[in-house]
Amino acid sequence: MSKKKPPNIILITIDCLRADILGCYGGEAQTPSIDRLAEQGVRYTAAFAHSHMTKSTFPSIFSGRYPSQDGGTQQFDAERFSVVEALQVSGYQTIGVNSNPWLSRRFGFHRGYTRYVDLSEASPAAHSLPVRLLNHGLGLFGGGVIYPPYPSAQAVTDAALQAIDGVDAPFFLWLHYMDAHWPYDVDRPRLYGPRDAENWAYNARLAARCRQTPERVTARERDALWALYRRGVETVDRQLGRLLTVLDEADTVALTADHGEAFGEHTEYFHKIALHAENVHVPLLLRHSGASGGQVENGVVRHVDLAPTILETAVLPPPGNGEGISLLPAAMNTEPLPKLEAFSESCNQNGCYAALRHDGWAAILEMEDVARMIVRQESLYNYYDDPAETRNLALERPSRMAAMRARILDYIARRNVGTSAAPLLAADMDDDLKRQLIKLGYLE
Ligand SMILES: [Zn+2]
Repeated sequence: MSKKKPPNIILITIDCLRADILGCYGGEAQTPSIDRLAEQGVRYTAAFAHSHMTKSTFPSIFSGRYPSQDGGTQQFDAERFSVVEALQVSGYQTIGVNSNPWLSRRFGFHRGYTRYVDLSEASPAAHSLPVRLLNHGLGLFGGGVIYPPYPSAQAVTDAALQAIDGVDAPFFLWLHYMDAHWPYDVDRPRLYGPRDAENWAYNARLAARCRQTPERVTARERDALWALYRRGVETVDRQLGRLLTVLDEADTVALTADHGEAFGEHTEYFHKIALHAENVHVPLLLRHSGASGGQVENGVVRHVDLAPTILETAVLPPPGNGEGISLLPAAMNTEPLPKLEAFSESCNQNGCYAALRHDGWAAILEMEDVARMIVRQESLYNYYDDPAETRNLALERPSRMAAMRARILDYIARRNVGTSAAPLLAADMDDDLKRQLIKLGYLE
């Protein structure tokens, strides 16, 4: 009896991509490539990330475990299970194309790759003296830039197409796109003209106000940012069109975002620490031969389910201590999807949040003291009636709130939330990394 050859597996992650902007989720962006992927596979309407930022969500995507487990989120700890490593050991060619400095070799995300193309490592020209002087000069007039802060979707796609050309199957390919991340849409000439520099300066000033005084940002300004963001999403979609046309229809493709992006909801912009839907509700699409196309799954699914799903696709066992389940049986209609609990967590030097989405409800706790389990504030939303989480029902539904609070506190205790919250100090980073993170708005 011949053993069936495992398929190529492609994991596409798009930084900051909200589900509700995509055409296939009823959004306004023109995303024909992503929409086609949804038609060919399963579209999950209630997929959640386990945190609010890249460096705490990716450990879960690659390990099937929660952010604070296994050494926390400051590094992709060498001891942590890696789905990429498991695929490599089983004979897959593993190729990664990264564009985000938080996912660089510096943080251990290259582990398990036969080939790791790290485009986030800045080009030397970007740090040459003339360019730095010019950038500094533009900065004096409000923040223009000469070199975009991250590689474009075109560069990511070019590198991926080049890397898989002639590679022996089966291969695992991971691509990470940054064009939906602030400053939104870098797919334009590398040297900006005076007019572009003026626009950049305006946008940079607006972004600074979004961070410092979000309550003073007007609806018109918010719409301008949203339009820029939409353009970034559409840029990624065009490039995905190039990638998807060269893939075989038997290839398995999963697409998701590391987290969402806020545009003034709950008086926040970008992806701050709070765990509301705009930050943790993500798109998830899964195309797999044998799973019929055009399916829509409304049950809760999570990033921790990706690793076991990918492993089952490759006919490999799930991680021994994994927190997720394979989504394949439900996608293939051999078993119904069980009712899953999606936990999320986020911490910084000021404190921690923890949240749970389950059975149509979303509960969020803001912790006064995470070590002593003291809650400062809590909120409860009906996920299906109020997906934007605008009406707090914690007082109206005390028994539901109590049940979900108990589950969240149990999660905090069992998954080490808050124990690795120490911020990465600028002093610990080399100059190149510091410069990249400053450009992306993470450091000042
Ligand atoms: Zn991110």
